[in-house]
Amino acid sequence: MIDIHCHLEYMQNPEQVIAEAKRKMTAIITSVADIKHKDMILEIRDNNADFVFVSMGLHPDRISNYSDAEIDNYIDFIQANKEKAVAIGECGLDYLQVNGDEMDRAKSFFLRFIESSKELKLPLVVHARNKPGSNDCFNDILKIITDSNARNVVFHCFSGSESNLKYALDQGYWISFATIVCKSDKHKRLAEKTPLGKMLLETDSPWLDPASLELTNRPWKIAESAKVIAEIKDITAQEVLKKTEENAKKIFGLPP
Ligand SMILES: [Zn+2]
Repeated sequence: MIDIHCHLEYMQNPEQVIAEAKRKMTAIITSVADIKHKDMILEIRDNNADFVFVSMGLHPDRISNYSDAEIDNYIDFIQANKEKAVAIGECGLDYLQVNGDEMDRAKSFFLRFIESSKELKLPLVVHARNKPGSNDCFNDILKIITDSNARNVVFHCFSGSESNLKYALDQGYWISFATIVCKSDKHKRLAEKTPLGKMLLETDSPWLDPASLELTNRPWKIAESAKVIAEIKDITAQEVLKKTEENAKKIFGLPP
C-alpha cells in the first residue's frame, strides 16, 4: 500500500502519522508544494529512509508568494538535491485559484519544472484544476505536456473529462486517484475507465478525507479508495492495492 501524494507538512504531528503509516503501509510519497517547507520535508525524509519519499515542486497557487529569483534558486536547489527526490512536482496550473498575470508566470515556471523533470529523468507530478463548469485547465495542460515531450507524467488527483482521460492514457500518462473517489460520482466513472495497469492511489492528505470535510485524511485511507474501485471493477480491494503499489514502485523507482 503506497500513497503517492500527501502533504506531511500540513499534518499536526507528522512523526506520529509516519509511525502509524509504517505499521500499515509500504511507503508514502510526500509532495513539497511550497518552497518554505523544503528543508523540513527533506529532514523528515532523512529520518525515515526507505519509507518517506519526496516529490519536489511548487503548487501553482504559491508562485505569487515568491520572486522569479527565489524560484530560480529553488529549481537549482532541486537539481543539487536530485538524489533525494523521486519526482518533480507537484507543479502545473490552477484555473480556479490563479489568474491574470500570475497565470503567465505559472505557465512559464510549469515549463521550467517540465524541463527539470526531463533533465533529471524524474517523473513529473502534475497538478491541474479546472474552474467549475469549464474544462480549459485540463485541455491546456495536456497540450503543454505533449508539446514539451514530457515523459513519465503522473496526473495527481485526476479530475479532467473522460475525453481528457482517454487522451492522457493514449499518451501513456499515469492517472492517480485521490480519496475523493470515495464520494464523487465523476471520479468513480473516471476510475472505471482507467485500467488498473495505469492507476495510482493517493490521499492528498490532510485534505480530501473520505468521510469528513476536516483536515483529517491520512495516507492509509487509500484503503477506502481501493474498496470503492474494487467494487467498480468487480475485483478485490487487495488486488487494487497490490497492482497500484507495483505501479508506484515502477514509476517512482522505489525499492522492491
Ligand atoms: Zn498536493
